[in-house]
Amino acid sequence: MLTKEDTYKKAFENIRKTLSEKQAQRDLMLSAAYKANPRLSEIDMLLSRTGADIAVTALSEGKDGVEQLQKKASALAEEKKMLLKKAQVPEISYNCSVCKDTGYASGKICGCVKREAAAVMTAELSREMPLQSCRFDNFDLKYYSDKDGADGQNPRRRMTAVFKLCREYAIGFSPETSCNLLFMGDAGLGKTHLTLAVVSAVIEKGYMPVYASAGNLFSAIENEKFQSEGKGVYDSVLNCDLLVIDDLGTELATSFTKSVLYNIINTRILIRRPTIINTNLSMKQLEERYTPRVSSRLIGNYEGYKFLGKDIRQQKKMESIK
Ligand SMILES: [Zn+2]
Repeated sequence: MLTKEDTYKKAFENIRKTLSEKQAQRDLMLSAAYKANPRLSEIDMLLSRTGADIAVTALSEGKDGVEQLQKKASALAEEKKMLLKKAQVPEISYNCSVCKDTGYASGKICGCVKREAAAVMTAELSREMPLQSCRFDNFDLKYYSDKDGADGQNPRRRMTAVFKLCREYAIGFSPETSCNLLFMGDAGLGKTHLTLAVVSAVIEKGYMPVYASAGNLFSAIENEKFQSEGKGVYDSVLNCDLLVIDDLGTELATSFTKSVLYNIINTRILIRRPTIINTNLSMKQLEERYTPRVSSRLIGNYEGYKFLGKDIRQQKKMESIK
């Protein structure tokens, strides 16, 4: 699991690596050009001598002398540029004209680093989750029946509303104002699909979400606890812009995971950072499994939605057999 710090570090490394590769390539061509044309070294020497002359003249003679020397310097620089062009040594073409691939512009982290960080995060998440294939545009409502169930609920209508909610949540996402969501319902009803679509959109907006299955989440936190050097996973889970816990209830529940879950939910409510939880469990089962203090936080601070329908993975499998 990548923390925000890791992600930015990686993004910086990627940007710097590209730059130093370009520089190294240019240096090779440069040294070949210098070998082939001794005039280049001569120009460098003359340029540095002229620079020193300018300094001395400025002190003793004043403006006129300086201007003449400056003309001389720019003529030399122009000659050098022409010779390098003739030798086909390219100017470095930067990916980002704002920061010239240094990652910083006017003392701030450049926008290109944020874009690279989003790419790093997407790549990392995609190794574990089908992030690219779970989008809003390929969420198919046809798999939800348009007939009212025995309980009077209409799956298509319910899921259309949930789909719209998720899309609007993603469009309007803000770590300061977005609400907490609790998605309940049986496996295979699209909870993971919709939350991954939200996560992609949130990354595109430049935020840093953390997405993990409950099993991976708790074991990452537990591993960190028993390692001497912390990697900031727990910290990142508590403070990230958006936390998504997938499949809550499928992990091995211990007193450790129960107290960690309570702490995550409670802390994020207190510092007002949104969390989305997916679970196959009912509220009653959540209460039994994680104690009433967890379920009361969920009831009081999360908007709950029950996913309806028939297992979509099964339906798709049946379709492929036909
Ligand atoms: Zn930049």
